[in-house]
Amino acid sequence: MNLLVIGAGLSGLMAAYSAAKAGLRVQVAAKGLGSMHWSAGTVDVMGYTSEEMSRPVHQPLDAIQALSHTHPEHPYVLLGAHHVQAALDDFVVLTGELGLPYGGAATKGDNLLLPSAVGALRPAFLAPQAQLAGDMSRPELLLIVGFHGLRDFYPELIAENLAKQGFQARAAFLPLSLLTEQSDRNNVHLAQALDDKARRMKLGSELKRLAQPGERIGLPAILGLDDYAAALAELQAAAGVPIFEIPTLPPSVPGMRLYKALRARLWQMGVRVDAGLEAIGASTVAANGAAGRVQWVETATSSRPLKHRADAYLLATGGILGGGFDSDHTGRIWETVFGLPLTIPQKRYEWFRPAFRALHAMKGLRGTALDVFGHAQVRRVERQLIDEYRGLIETVLAKLGPDNHDVAVAIAELPDQIRGYEEIKLEGVKQFRHAAAQLISKLG
Ligand SMILES: Cc1cc2nc3c(=O)[nH]c(=O)nc-3n(C[C@H](O)[C@H](O)[C@H](O)COP(=O)(O)OP(=O)(O)OC[C@H]3O[C@@H](n4cnc5c(N)ncnc54)[C@H](O)[C@@H]3O)c2cc1C
Repeated sequence: MNLLVIGAGLSGLMAAYSAAKAGLRVQVAAKGLGSMHWSAGTVDVMGYTSEEMSRPVHQPLDAIQALSHTHPEHPYVLLGAHHVQAALDDFVVLTGELGLPYGGAATKGDNLLLPSAVGALRPAFLAPQAQLAGDMSRPELLLIVGFHGLRDFYPELIAENLAKQGFQARAAFLPLSLLTEQSDRNNVHLAQALDDKARRMKLGSELKRLAQPGERIGLPAILGLDDYAAALAELQAAAGVPIFEIPTLPPSVPGMRLYKALRARLWQMGVRVDAGLEAIGASTVAANGAAGRVQWVETATSSRPLKHRADAYLLATGGILGGGFDSDHTGRIWETVFGLPLTIPQKRYEWFRPAFRALHAMKGLRGTALDVFGHAQVRRVERQLIDEYRGLIETVLAKLGPDNHDVAVAIAELPDQIRGYEEIKLEGVKQFRHAAAQLISKLG
């Protein structure tokens, strides 16, 4: 084997593809899935600079050039803007060949600005074709369509938030039964449902009914898993307006499409991608005792460790999330396979800065009607319950006496009935209220 790639995230799979295309014999060994299954499916390049965390970068490749003065050690600078550009160009060509085309902003070199699932704007350099019509530099008005009962996608929240930022947007709902007969389905199930042409046709005619001239429609990213190109084309033709996907919370359908497409291409090229092989160590000591070059990498399997020998090894194990780095409560952080030296942000909150940036930008919404975490029916009911329980106990105290002590205790213990999440919790609340009414009547 010429090259062992360790890790099956976007970096590992793309590296394996490039090496195999150049004629090397390649194998990919990975512990598990990478962060593609979490990600929005876009390729983000320098969305923000550390100097200006709240303003998205407009032209990221130019910003990389500028970085060379301020941060000469930055990986983008070490790589060079022209290599970043070349890699992005290769990616666009490859995804085109895979039938999962990616594209960029209308003005070459600009970042796209795409709406997120809470209506914030997110810079991305490349996006799957299905997300491109969401670019906020486009002139069409926005109609965000959700489905009754679909969790974690609130069209009103997205539309109101976009409107707050000066974009004309409205929201509409369709019944979830258009997509599935079962209520508890995740985004991947719904995307698979839309691989079915008959369902797409039904959805298409509903979208046509909702859309007004001059609008574009934003839908959750569920427009087909395997048949997404046909799904997008048919839905746009049926609705008569541009349609775009808005990435949802994980699991990520756009990420899964990309993963599946890349894996399938590697398979065709004769590259084995073995999941479930965790690299647990390596030896750099040759038979003659000389040190300095990796001799083998060891992986753990369910039976016994395996040694993999290759001419070269490519480490693509990602960061904390993918498992490439690990840390402990003291703030120590280390690279897990080779123990490579790391440069680590000294302030621990900076480790998570990219993931929390979007949430931070939304802090003004906390406690308002647009608070995504406070929006759901369950959260509203939870807040009501505090006052309800207080009222209940005040009633009990007013009527408490030796004869009704047992009833009072039973009432005080009622919240124990409210357990679980979402629908199960709401059912518990129903029973709580019913029991409370009955017990109160027994207080005398
Ligand atoms: C929620 C979320 C959303 C994101 N959205 C975007 C986005 O839309 N656009 C964007 O550009 N970036 C996004 N990112 C960042 C992006 O996902 C990562 O920068 C990128 O995917 C990292 O890819 P990777 O291949 O380096 O690592 P990963 O995708 O993390 O893959 C690491 C791989 O290494 C394997 N591995 C780890 N340790 C071992 C081991 N010891 N032995 C063998 N295998 C091992 C893992 O199992 C996995 O297969 C997002 C990140 C998160 C967390």
